[in-house]
Amino acid sequence: MKDICRGLVRWFAPNLFMFILTAGLLLCPAFAGAAERPEKNLWEKYYIFWGYPDNYLENQSREAFRLIDSVLKENKPQKGGSLTRDMALMGLDMLLHDKRNDGTEAFYEFVNVRLGEMLRDMEKPVKRGAKIYKAYNDGFIIKTKTATIAIDLVPGGKKDKPFIGESLLMAIADKCDAMFISHAHGDHANLRVAKAFANAGKTVIAPKGLWEGVHPNIKQLLNADTAVTVRFDELGMVLNILPGHQDDMYNNIYVMTFKNGITVAHTGDQYNQEDLEWIDNVGKQHKIDVLLLNCWINSLERTVKGFNPKLIITGHENEMEHSIDHREAYWMTRRKYENLPYPNVLMTWGEHYTIEN
Ligand SMILES: [Zn+2]
Ligand SMILES: [Zn+2]
Repeated sequence: MKDICRGLVRWFAPNLFMFILTAGLLLCPAFAGAAERPEKNLWEKYYIFWGYPDNYLENQSREAFRLIDSVLKENKPQKGGSLTRDMALMGLDMLLHDKRNDGTEAFYEFVNVRLGEMLRDMEKPVKRGAKIYKAYNDGFIIKTKTATIAIDLVPGGKKDKPFIGESLLMAIADKCDAMFISHAHGDHANLRVAKAFANAGKTVIAPKGLWEGVHPNIKQLLNADTAVTVRFDELGMVLNILPGHQDDMYNNIYVMTFKNGITVAHTGDQYNQEDLEWIDNVGKQHKIDVLLLNCWINSLERTVKGFNPKLIITGHENEMEHSIDHREAYWMTRRKYENLPYPNVLMTWGEHYTIEN
């Protein structure tokens, strides 16, 4: 027995070192792999995608969003668009209709970079004409030499994770003199933004039934189904509020005439058959320079003919709270509007177009 034990020790001792080394070499990568795989290092995160399909798609989307942003910066909005812009907007449609990109860092970065650019541009004075900024969804800001008006300015997204960051949105609101709200839907009306205006002593106009009694500066000026005319002497503008509807919901249509004579109309989510009877005559009562039109409005040809604008700028494309079949794509707007006998400018979030008079 002693001989057997002595034999084993004699065999094992010289091989002990090799045994530990081999076991170590076999086990260490397994442990190291287990530790590293979920926690990708920087190189893996940005350059190695084999085995990480989600990471691949995330990186591809981020690259595409950034590329589109650069292309749009170099190819500004213009009447009728251009092949380059159409390609960039088509790329955006594809990204925004792929639900894997919903709520990703790449998406938030894109929205906030673009709206940040818009804020920087809003700091420049407007000497003549009217600069029209497209914010998120159907939100627009019209800036002239004498007044800056926000319409349907909203953060987008959920309350706890808005698309547009709080400080950025409030900085944009701070640059505006008043805000007009078309109707009560959450993709147009946000009480937090309205209160920011009201608390700063600025007027907010809301449709009948929305935020009544909330703040003395939040006013419901259209209380019957007949249009009203309001003078804003401090802003040098005249506002006509027309009694539109989205189905049965009150939907104020704002026709804004600025001190320099430029008139811009915003239709909110107008979608109603009976209203077409008076919409037929809007263009006879008001000379509309720009019609800010919800891209999916009913009876498109008849509505546009009724307003008879010099230019159409559509809104409400790619509302991300909608299912993808109702995230109206830019290419759909292009297709619907290309045969109308009115020029149009197709813009995305954070872009602007200036009209001269
Ligand atoms: Zn609506
Ligand atoms: Zn809407």
